[in-house]
Amino acid sequence: MSANSTAGKSDGDDPSIPPNSAESLGSRIRDLDVDSIRRYLAQKLGFYEPSEPSTSVEKVLDEVNLDGIVKWMKSARCQNVITLSGAGISTSAGIPDFRSPETGLYHNLQKYNLPEPQAIFEINFFRQNPKPFFTLAKELFPGSFKPTISHYFIRLLHEKGLLLRHYTQNIDTLERGAGIPGEKLVEAHGTFYTSHCIECRKEYPLDFIKGIIFADQIPICTECPGVVKPDIVFFGESLPERFQHCLQEDFQKCDMLIIMGSSLEVQPFASLIDMVPEWCPRLLINREKAGIRSPLLRLWGMSGGLQLDEDSIRDVARLGECDDGCQELADRLGWGDELRELVAREHELLTQKGSLLNPHPPILEHSGQNVTAEKL
Ligand SMILES: [Zn+2]
Repeated sequence: MSANSTAGKSDGDDPSIPPNSAESLGSRIRDLDVDSIRRYLAQKLGFYEPSEPSTSVEKVLDEVNLDGIVKWMKSARCQNVITLSGAGISTSAGIPDFRSPETGLYHNLQKYNLPEPQAIFEINFFRQNPKPFFTLAKELFPGSFKPTISHYFIRLLHEKGLLLRHYTQNIDTLERGAGIPGEKLVEAHGTFYTSHCIECRKEYPLDFIKGIIFADQIPICTECPGVVKPDIVFFGESLPERFQHCLQEDFQKCDMLIIMGSSLEVQPFASLIDMVPEWCPRLLINREKAGIRSPLLRLWGMSGGLQLDEDSIRDVARLGECDDGCQELADRLGWGDELRELVAREHELLTQKGSLLNPHPPILEHSGQNVTAEKL
C-alpha cells in the first residue's frame, strides 16, 4: 500500500471523512510515511503544513511509563512542574458533584423554579434572583471539607522547589486549605476565597459572606445596595485576568506537566495541555484516559491532545483514583512517608480548629452598616 492509495481513500476533493473511520485509517497508516501523507492532506485540504515534523522532537524520557516520569522528575533538567486539576482531586474530600442530578443538590433547588439547572451559575439570572446560588453555596462552602492526598502532593511539589504553578478548575479553595501559597495558584474558574459587590466592585473576604450565607441570607454591599458575589466565574463572565497573564508566562517554561482528576472536556482549560513545549513530558493521573486527540487529526499536523498509545514519546497515564496515583508517585520519588505525615498532621490541625463538618457555624457579628436583608 502506498501513501497515495491511502490518501485516495479520503475521496479526492471531499474532505468529509466519517468520524468512525479515524481509528481504522489511523491504524492503516501507522507503518506508512506519515510526513508524506500529511503533506498530501495539508495540500489537498488547504491545511497549514507544520514546519517542524514530529520526528525532530527530543525524547527526554528513557522509558515512556511511570518509571520514566519518576527518573525525569528526579533529574536536574526537571525544574518547573505545572499541575492541572479538576474535580477528581476533590471527590475523596466528599465534595458533591453539584452538576450531577444524583447528588440531590439541584433537586433541593427546584422550589426556586430555576428555568434550567445551569441558570444558577448565569450572571443575568443571579442579578434577578441570587437566592438559589447562595442556597447551593451553603452546601459547598469552603471549610466544611478536608484537602485530599492529591492537594498535599501539590504542596509537597512546592516545598521541594519544583512547582511552577498549579492551575485548578475547582472552586472549593482546597488548594489554599492545603497550604499552597496564593502566588503558586491559578484558580481558572474563580474562587470563593474573595467576593465582590456586583455593582461597585468593592472586595470582601471569605469571612464576610460566610455567616450571612449560613444564616440563609443574601450578602449585601456595605457601600451600595449591590449583592456581594463570590469570585467564582459564572456563565457570561470572562476568566480571571490572572489566568490569561500566568499562562502566557508559565507554559513555555514548563518541563513536566501533571494533569490530575480532570476529564479535560472544559475549554479553554482543556487546551492548556498543548501549550507546553513539544518535548515536555505529560502525566495524566485520572480514573480514565482523557484529552486524547484522534490519530487522524494528528496526521493532519494538529498535534494537540495527549497521545496515550505505544507510539507516545512523552505522554503517560496512571489510571485509577487520584489520591492513589499521587501517593504512588510520591512513594517512587522517595517522598511517600513525608506525604503521609503531612496529610496526617494537617488533617489533625484542621480537626482541632473545629472548622470541619459544622454545617451551622455561629453567625459572624456584623457592624450596623452591614445590611444582611433577605432579597426578594
Ligand atoms: Zn457595592
